[in-house]
Amino acid sequence: MSDTRDNVLAVDAAPAEVGELDLYQKREKIYTRAIQGRFQRLRTLTGWPLLLGYFCLPWINLFGQQSVLFDLPARKFHILTMTFWPQDFFMLAWLLIISAFGLFTVTALAGRVWCGYTCPQTVWTAIFMWIEQFFEGSRNQRIKLDKAPMSFAKFRRKFMKHSGWLFVAFMTGFTFVGYFTPIRDLLGDVFTLQANSWALVWIFIFTVLTYLNAGWMREQVCTYMCPYARFQSVMFDRDTLIVSYDSQRGEPRGARKRTREQTSQLGDCVDCQMCVQVCPTGIDIRDGLQYKCIGCALCIDACDSVMDKMGYARGLVSYTSENRLEGGQTHILRPRLIGYVTVMCIMMVAFSYAMLTRDMVDMTILRERNQLYMEAPGGLIDNVYKIHLSNLDADARSFLLEVTGIDGAEVIGDQRITVGGGELAELTLRVRANPIDLQAPSTPIVFKATRVDDASISTDHESRFMKPL
Ligand code: SF4
Ligand code: SF4
Repeated sequence: MSDTRDNVLAVDAAPAEVGELDLYQKREKIYTRAIQGRFQRLRTLTGWPLLLGYFCLPWINLFGQQSVLFDLPARKFHILTMTFWPQDFFMLAWLLIISAFGLFTVTALAGRVWCGYTCPQTVWTAIFMWIEQFFEGSRNQRIKLDKAPMSFAKFRRKFMKHSGWLFVAFMTGFTFVGYFTPIRDLLGDVFTLQANSWALVWIFIFTVLTYLNAGWMREQVCTYMCPYARFQSVMFDRDTLIVSYDSQRGEPRGARKRTREQTSQLGDCVDCQMCVQVCPTGIDIRDGLQYKCIGCALCIDACDSVMDKMGYARGLVSYTSENRLEGGQTHILRPRLIGYVTVMCIMMVAFSYAMLTRDMVDMTILRERNQLYMEAPGGLIDNVYKIHLSNLDADARSFLLEVTGIDGAEVIGDQRITVGGGELAELTLRVRANPIDLQAPSTPIVFKATRVDDASISTDHESRFMKPL
């Protein structure tokens, strides 16, 4: 186990004094102080595109089709211009595995940046905190408001805050369901009270979950519920970037006047508690790396602003590595990272190849079960088949249906069929053959569907042609 993990355990396992530990401790409400700084700006830059993407994507139509639609009843997923059918779902699993390796790589390199900058829990909590601050004021005003007895002014502020939270939560739940059912229809159905009950149930569930997670539970989701917080340290090593307090420079900490020169007895930490007050999980980074730290770097912004005011160099709290803290160098290129990147690149190349070469048409054939064969004029024999033809392309395509394997066998009726982009066509096909050409009561026959505009795209399927004994 790395020293980093030892630190985590040491910090969490070493109580200040021996005593009874209540495993069901009451939660202390955290009143975070708003802070501006370069990492806060970076979080805004990463959070907004994600939010806009989440809320806008289902409203964008591509080729007349909702850009992202997980159409469960039709068992097909539309993602941008691609359509995934059940037989393609292994590709989605593949994509998830590539994403997981991407997360491992980023975590090994820069710690919990996913948690701090892009995790939906973090992003939605940031919006809810902004709404809270908008209606209830700064940290001190919120503490004062909570301590004050209920009054009309307090009720109004709380009411406005919870209404804002519920609005965002409802929009989140509605948009989520809009990824599974056409969102424009859903909008009309919800407001005319004609939405089906399952859609309403899922909107309600996601509204409530968002409201509770981002409004009430916040850091508790990261601390107690998220499994990633628990196993992230497995990916850490001594070169992983972590938010750390430089205790050699900061200790002994102590308050001092801004005008007075730094005394030789004190380190650079002025013990102002700013780093604690901005922390969304309410921890003190000066206690060392803790599993509750989501790596948001707000404490860096807070401490940098204090250092600026004091006229000290920035970086008392900073992104650094264990090696760096101990006076060594941070190694970016190291075996673990090279391993993650190599595996990820191989998987991405293989995935791209599989995507580029995947079949653009799929066909299944079922024999008509009610009648094995039918007698046609001239002593000929007809067999009837049910054909399911899937066009995996984004645009409508025409296909030519042919049969081979039996001399003289022919399709009766129109051999051309047009199938919409990402659609499945079902048709009944009658095939006629001369019994003289049939060697046995059951003869193999091959159906072939070829795209009219590109003969290289085709699929075939074998079935049986039956004749009287
Ligand atoms: S300790 Fe710093 S980086 Fe960690 S969660 Fe708190 S503010 Fe964010
Ligand atoms: S913000 Fe910086 S100076 Fe203030 S208590 Fe935290 S580490 Fe010390």
